[in-house]
Amino acid sequence: MRLISLLNHYQRYPGFVYEKARLCRETQTIEISIRPRRGSRPVCSSCERPATAYDHLSLRRFEFVPLWGCMVVLRYHMRRVDCRTCGVRVETVPWGVGKHQLTKAYMLFLAHWARKLSWQETARSFRSTWEKVCQSVEYVVQWGLEHRQLAPIAAIGVDEIQYARGHKYLTLVYQIEQQCTRLLWIGRERTTESFGEFFTLIGEELAGQIEFVCSDMWQPYLTVIRERCSRAIHILDRFHIVAKMNAALDQVRAAEARRLAHDGYEPVLKKTRWCVLKRKANLNEHQRFRLRDLLRYNLQTARAYLLKEDFQQLWDYQSPQWAGKFLDDWCAQVMRSRIEPMKKVARTLRSHRPLLLNYFRAKKQISSGVVEGLNNKAKLTMRKSFGFRTFRVTEIALYHALGRLPEPDVAHRFY
Ligand SMILES: [Zn+2]
Repeated sequence: MRLISLLNHYQRYPGFVYEKARLCRETQTIEISIRPRRGSRPVCSSCERPATAYDHLSLRRFEFVPLWGCMVVLRYHMRRVDCRTCGVRVETVPWGVGKHQLTKAYMLFLAHWARKLSWQETARSFRSTWEKVCQSVEYVVQWGLEHRQLAPIAAIGVDEIQYARGHKYLTLVYQIEQQCTRLLWIGRERTTESFGEFFTLIGEELAGQIEFVCSDMWQPYLTVIRERCSRAIHILDRFHIVAKMNAALDQVRAAEARRLAHDGYEPVLKKTRWCVLKRKANLNEHQRFRLRDLLRYNLQTARAYLLKEDFQQLWDYQSPQWAGKFLDDWCAQVMRSRIEPMKKVARTLRSHRPLLLNYFRAKKQISSGVVEGLNNKAKLTMRKSFGFRTFRVTEIALYHALGRLPEPDVAHRFY
């Protein structure tokens, strides 16, 4: 049979031979029988050493990579071995993994596609089920986590992400070096305990080698970094500061728009949200006109906008001293502005002044844009794969998409 010689070419398992292949037209399944090669010894599944055969178990079916739209099933009578050290055990077979119904090759195949398509689409494309795709990804991720190399880690970024609808958060820790950006760890919640677990995982020695840590202003993170990673330069995430500023500005604008409408004024603030939130360079012509128009009125929104634009200069500084001076001047100006949301931002920045200036001490080497990019990918992964309701499934999906984990070796890759 031609199919058998094809299989022998691409996927030969030492110690076993393909016996016969049969197409079942009704179920569109290709069934391939396997038997042990004469004189070969079975391998004990506990200690991975050859042992003497003891008896045969009933037939087991393993799903293999589909071919020409047909399901492919390997049929094999598992043997039990009488192992000198472990006693009577089931043998281990090179195409299977423990009690999994899918072969290793097929699980790698499904996991590979699950990174490109959603899990549902993967299942549909290969006539499998969501559960089987999930199992495959879980196997690959588990293997990857056990075999990945953590060291060396020079720079990490920590961020939180919302999941499972409602106010549940995950803590994500990324490695953010130029040569290596990957998701290192996922924790439940965003507490000191959950983030602390990451440092427990990597151990004190690795933690001591970390040079840069990038985070937002979330207090539990700041506390953990100070305690567990005190030698590293701690940098506040630029992206989060800009986001805070924009949130404040939006608050000012919305409140003022309501007030103007209430007092019966012309709705000058209507549809100006993006005019003031976007960077000036990114505005289209119409928005630029609206903005210029807006700035002519003596509105709180206009003043808050100018303060925000002014603040952007901070990032151009080279020396921490001059950046610090600029920051102090800016904060003083805001405190006189009587715009409460902006004053709140200024107070926050003041209280984190040293961390903020670490950005310049680190010579801008660490761009927190990396964290932002990874977080966007994480959000996309979660959105793409509806059905991630449990923490466990969310966890493996994120590791799979962003962990850059090593993969088990197989004789032939079917993708
Ligand atoms: Zn054994």
